[in-house]
Amino acid sequence: MEERETKNFIEQEIDKDLAEGVYDHVVTRFPPEPNGYLHIGHAKSIILNSGLAKEYNGVFNMRFDDTNPTKEKSEFVDSIIADIKWLGADFGDKIYYASDYFDVMYEKAVLLIKKGLAYVSDLNADQIREYRGTLTEAGKEDPNRNRPVEESLQIFSDMKDGKYEDGAVVLRAKIDMSSPNINMRDPILYRVAHRTHVRTGDKWCIYPMYDFAHPIEDAMEGITHSICTLEFEDHRPLYEWVVNNTEWENPPRQIEFAKLYLTNVVTGKRYIKKLVEDGVVDGWDDPRLVSIAGLKRRGFTPESIRNFVNLLGISKSNASAEYQMLEYCVREDLKPKDKRIMAILHPIKLIIDNYPENEEEMVVISNNVENPELGEREVPFSRELYIERDDFMVEPPKKYRRLFIGNEVRLMNAYFVTCTGYDTDEDGNVTCVHATYDPESRGGESPDGRKVRGTIHWVSAKNAVSVEVRQYENLVNEELGVYNEDGTINLNPNSKTVLKDCRIEPYVKGAKAYDGFQFVRDGFYVVDSKDSTEDKLVFNRVVSLKSSYKLPTDTK
Ligand code: ATP
Ligand code: MG
Repeated sequence: MEERETKNFIEQEIDKDLAEGVYDHVVTRFPPEPNGYLHIGHAKSIILNSGLAKEYNGVFNMRFDDTNPTKEKSEFVDSIIADIKWLGADFGDKIYYASDYFDVMYEKAVLLIKKGLAYVSDLNADQIREYRGTLTEAGKEDPNRNRPVEESLQIFSDMKDGKYEDGAVVLRAKIDMSSPNINMRDPILYRVAHRTHVRTGDKWCIYPMYDFAHPIEDAMEGITHSICTLEFEDHRPLYEWVVNNTEWENPPRQIEFAKLYLTNVVTGKRYIKKLVEDGVVDGWDDPRLVSIAGLKRRGFTPESIRNFVNLLGISKSNASAEYQMLEYCVREDLKPKDKRIMAILHPIKLIIDNYPENEEEMVVISNNVENPELGEREVPFSRELYIERDDFMVEPPKKYRRLFIGNEVRLMNAYFVTCTGYDTDEDGNVTCVHATYDPESRGGESPDGRKVRGTIHWVSAKNAVSVEVRQYENLVNEELGVYNEDGTINLNPNSKTVLKDCRIEPYVKGAKAYDGFQFVRDGFYVVDSKDSTEDKLVFNRVVSLKSSYKLPTDTK
């Protein structure tokens, strides 16, 4: 990436903190809840936080925010670690878990009770909601608000010891029931939940609420800048209240930035989860999803995702990015990296009638004309080839430059051929095209200065490998928009096309999962990591070659 001229607002805040001596170093973190797979939005947060740590010679912590035992699974922990590593974020050797701090959180809650800043309430969830008031109306005080400290301490201890049922009592902060900020109206700090936790087992039957737990997790790890998304802006006063009242030497501060949204793309973890659970997609790593696992399987590279995030920059107002911009980034990344090979996706035979039968020659082709470092390869050429079905037409429209009877075209890197005829089946479908070649035009060079206007690609029939190719479109019907009013998703019925018998150069034999190629005249492809086998390779199209997309001029 090029050096940016101006720093983003978070860097400016950090510079200020360092200059004023608020902190003398930088520690950031990425705190996912292990209740699903990561998606492109999380990638933004990972790249931002790890990038800041790197820029300021600081530290970046990877922490599981596993304080809610109901939704969390170890499958998600493993996938999240794998995804972050794949993205290339350096979190050192240690992985942090919020559940390791349950003892400290409990002690800090006790401290707040002792300071008269928290109390146990007997109100149930409905009553608490009712007492909370509205945006325009102050809340009502909890009848237990002035419960003696000793009594709250005793009940809180009993809660921990399992003497209360779920929902019977809660611990609330004592802040301000008439605050204009509803988050400050005596928020709940702890609730009773008789659940087994993946890591702490049955040790706890009370669990802290996010707004109480998160600042303590940050403070425990010596985080300096706790960077989160905009929806937490209204929670910042509570974050500060917690870190200030639970007594830390150098408490962290929270800074918010805008989430990454993609137009017409399903990004929310909750929605992706539903697509997986409803079987609409083939697991969390379905190549049509923008989960990190899906993007990886589709053939996106970490570099392309990092460039995308950097191009978008960091902002304080919500906006939606175009998926085409992500495609642009992967195209730019793969263009010089991938070898360019010939693959026939909709094959039809081309027979060169004047080419000797049983003969075969090798044509030398550059693997990537823009990157000579990728070398050359030999591609077999013979009398019977496969070409794309739409590279031949019986009745061509005016500007058609490819094969039709009487027309001469170039077979890429091989010879000039002139179309002489075609065969049909009983129904009149073309089954085979005939041509003659000019032996003097070897390498696809004109022997006498005559020009051809079309160039098509080809694969030698007897050497070709049959592979499966999968092409994707948006999972969502773009005309209708992503979500219906009831929260269901408008699906595009054509989001996945499977081509079962494509013919491709023998060069791909032995290709492994994630190996990438450019299929000339079509797009970038990778070997599918789930379904491809040695006997039947399966390719995913990452992105097509062409696009009318132009980068917006205001991107940095
Ligand atoms: P979702 O919004 O998809 O449900 P989440 O916010 O519930 O995700 P968490 O595991 O809580 O997921 O998020 C971990 C971190 O990733 C948080 O710091 C969160 O702010 C950040 N994050 C989540 N979604 C985005 C996004 N779209 N853009 C940028 N950061 C995000
Ligand atoms: Mg969340």
